[in-house]
Amino acid sequence: MKCVICRTGECSKGTTNFTHILNGKLVVVKNVEANICNNCGEAYFDSDTVNYIQKKTEEVMAINEQVELFTV
Ligand SMILES: [Zn+2]
Repeated sequence: MKCVICRTGECSKGTTNFTHILNGKLVVVKNVEANICNNCGEAYFDSDTVNYIQKKTEEVMAINEQVELFTV
């Protein structure tokens, strides 16, 4: 599959870290399967992977709620 961002690279299967910011917190989902461009590095996720990212993000947010520290 040709990359739609740079239009020159070819995408092939690999893994990447998906990083996004949600509710002011940085969420990193590691080792996510993606089709990655060999030229610009753009990662494309299929719908199963997007579901996986959403599920993992919810888990991380739940854990973060529990372990958040407050200074006194
Ligand atoms: Zn590209």
